[in-house]
Amino acid sequence: MTAATSVLTGARVVLPGGVVEDGRVTVEGRSIIADDPRRSSTRDLTGHWIVPGFIDIHVHGGGGASFSSGDAEAVLTGIATHRRHGTTTLLASTVTGDLDDLSRQAALLSELVEQGDLAGIHFEGPFISPHRRGAHKPSLLRDPHPSDVRKLLDAARGTARMVTLAPELPGGLDSVRMLAEHGVIAAVGHTDAAYEATLQAVEAGATVATHLFNAMPSLLHRAPGPIAALLEDERVTVELINDGVHLHPAVLEMAFRSAGADRVAFITDAMDAAGFGDGRYLLGPMEVDVVDGVARLVEGGSIAGSTLTLDTAFKRAVTVDGLPVADAVRALSANPARLLGAYDRIGSLEPGKDADLVVLDASFDLVGVMRKGSWVVEP
Ligand SMILES: [Zn+2]
Repeated sequence: MTAATSVLTGARVVLPGGVVEDGRVTVEGRSIIADDPRRSSTRDLTGHWIVPGFIDIHVHGGGGASFSSGDAEAVLTGIATHRRHGTTTLLASTVTGDLDDLSRQAALLSELVEQGDLAGIHFEGPFISPHRRGAHKPSLLRDPHPSDVRKLLDAARGTARMVTLAPELPGGLDSVRMLAEHGVIAAVGHTDAAYEATLQAVEAGATVATHLFNAMPSLLHRAPGPIAALLEDERVTVELINDGVHLHPAVLEMAFRSAGADRVAFITDAMDAAGFGDGRYLLGPMEVDVVDGVARLVEGGSIAGSTLTLDTAFKRAVTVDGLPVADAVRALSANPARLLGAYDRIGSLEPGKDADLVVLDASFDLVGVMRKGSWVVEP
């Protein structure tokens, strides 16, 4: 049996080498294949852009559902919501909970990784600073003792891909080393670390800055803190939440220029309300009110994740932040794919890779999503 083939024609196709006007993407089965002019089943997408499917390495839920709910149906609802907004690959992020509870969540999420719905688990907390806890429940925070971090990795049965921790806490650097040894990304975040301590964490193997600027000391001229350390070291990819709420566009642009287009990953850090609407929600054990799309803790008013989806992040990058389309594609697809060690399979529109792609109209609004060769949203 030959797999069904279709050729998308006429669009501006964003490839690693640049934008191809009037390009073609040929899809056979689940994959992109080399172009073959004899293939006849074509779909004309003139006036549109075709970009690689988006990859979100930090997202807690969507569509009214939480990845921490412990309910497989709810997790799938969240995944489906983000897929409709162009995210073809994602890590499910947890929030601070007690270790037994997180272990149970990990067991459930690991099944969804094994069946291909998720690319892995990102544990955000409980190993974070009480001074920079954001929307994480204070009574459940704990120091990153490697044996405790290890407990979560074991519960995830090899599907943990990233752990956000505060490296200045007791056990922090040892945990970073342990994670790096196990091939799990150590991410510096929700941290009160000074500049020097952050450099030590990078030296120990940390490679990601969890939502740079948010939940860490500000950049000051005599106390550069973690931001300067994470921006300057070429081994670090910095997460940025491009929703216009978490970061001023000028700061986003400054960070982008400082790190360079190959070291930025746009994330949503989205909670349940993404793709759903305003109202009262739970983020882990914490109550959150979403008003006009901005999520804040009921108690204290701290920003509690976003309601962002990556199609909006892409459009903002190009139309508000003024980034070249190719750089936005790096931040939303190529860089996170490399970070996950999956660039041989996803992250660009090249033959042999999964047919994961997003179709945008001339105003950069999403009109189509294909995942592994099947339309999620048909243009
Ligand atoms: Zn988060």
